[in-house]
Amino acid sequence: MELHNKKTLVVGLGVTGVATSLFLKERGARVTVSEQRDREAILPTIQQLSTQGVELEIGTHRRETFLNADLIVVSPGVPLDIAPLQAAHERGVEIISEIELASRYIQKPIIAVTGTNGKTTTVNLIAEIFKAAGKKIFLGGNVGNPLIEYVLHGHDEEYIIAEISSFQLEGIHTFKPFISVLLNLHHDHLDRYDSYNDYITAKARLFTNQSTEDYAVLNADDPEIEKMSSALNTTTLYFSGKRRVPNGCYYENHHVYFTHGTAQTSLRFDHLYLQGNHNLHNIMAAAVVSKLCGCPEEKIQYAVEHFKGLPHRLEFLQEVNKIKFYNDSKATNVSSVARALEALTPPVILIAGGKDKGGDYGPLTPLIKEKVKTLILIGEATKKMSQAFQAATTIIEAETLEEAFRRSLEQATPGDTILLSPACSSFDMFADYKERGNVFRALVDSHAHTLHKGMNNGTTQNI
Ligand code: ADP
Repeated sequence: MELHNKKTLVVGLGVTGVATSLFLKERGARVTVSEQRDREAILPTIQQLSTQGVELEIGTHRRETFLNADLIVVSPGVPLDIAPLQAAHERGVEIISEIELASRYIQKPIIAVTGTNGKTTTVNLIAEIFKAAGKKIFLGGNVGNPLIEYVLHGHDEEYIIAEISSFQLEGIHTFKPFISVLLNLHHDHLDRYDSYNDYITAKARLFTNQSTEDYAVLNADDPEIEKMSSALNTTTLYFSGKRRVPNGCYYENHHVYFTHGTAQTSLRFDHLYLQGNHNLHNIMAAAVVSKLCGCPEEKIQYAVEHFKGLPHRLEFLQEVNKIKFYNDSKATNVSSVARALEALTPPVILIAGGKDKGGDYGPLTPLIKEKVKTLILIGEATKKMSQAFQAATTIIEAETLEEAFRRSLEQATPGDTILLSPACSSFDMFADYKERGNVFRALVDSHAHTLHKGMNNGTTQNI
């Protein structure tokens, strides 16, 4: 694609927007960035870009700016249906996402992972296996390292491992992964999509440009994905925790079996840090991808057994006074909270709530009833969640996470688990899920420290 002197517009000035602008500038394009947030929120970024000769439109999206562009590159957080983008689309301006732009300059095979939950865990696991097998990789996409960074600074990497969100898939035209992985499909982001169907359609775009030389790796236990699979024009492999799939991988009696027609091999994992059946799905998906790319089975076993998991994802923090603490701040939808509750032994004291994303909390009710002795709610979603679960368990409403934590300690007795797993995004009270999880971790640390000090002073017993 010729970019020299092209009038380009980058919409959204986060990490991806900055990297995209620098790339376009390097290729000789005329670059404007349009960002709706006000100046103070992004001051350091503004300074960095102005010295590079990038034009900045801050605090607003001007319709004319969009209409006058030759090419618009949209950052992952920006919906494609905002008015100025719609207007530009009607005018015939080319509108693409950053992964589309990057993929036009990437010659290496792309392994693209999407799904409602488990993307970050799975791409990191694939990366660990590949590294153990001595393969050079670039890990990017939705995980804070835009793909365009590879185009700017990449060297001799053999594979590009990319975490892909449905938002980014809305803006692709030629993006063609060598391997596409679809982990699962659940209700999420209904604040952004008109319907669940629209969300699924966006996810299915991942396979649009693939052909039979390319691979799709699919979750055979997910009915929505099963339905979608017959329409694919790919070589398709499956993973399952429930049945013996003929091509791919399944889990039975502590073994992962790899199958290829009648041929079969197996691996036994003696120790896993990752907890829960959902993580077995992530492990199998990563294992199938790794096999396809020629990683030896012993390297897969080694990397999987040594993978400690990531912060904020069903992360075991510590046990204090026989009470276990888990930080699952990244659980921002009903399905991820369900997987956490399934994985943990009751009684659970669950801290949940935050900014509602437009979904139905109802499907969580049976698990709340079965495992949660007290539900402590925070944030904007409190009322809606309280109504949904009033018949299922005891509910306490709290103003802050600090108060919620204090109330959880009041309720807890030895043998309990205290779990932060919000089923909501964090933006009503925190900068992001990381800040929310870090606040929770600090509260747990401080609680442990206080008890420990008390014990050393001889003021606390039975610890
Ligand atoms: P994503 O990048 O898709 O948001 P993460 O790996 O960051 O996925 O995990 C997000 C949340 O989903 C965490 O609460 C995690 O425990 C949970 N989770 C991880 N893998 C799965 C899975 N395969 N199915 C359901 N939930 C999962």
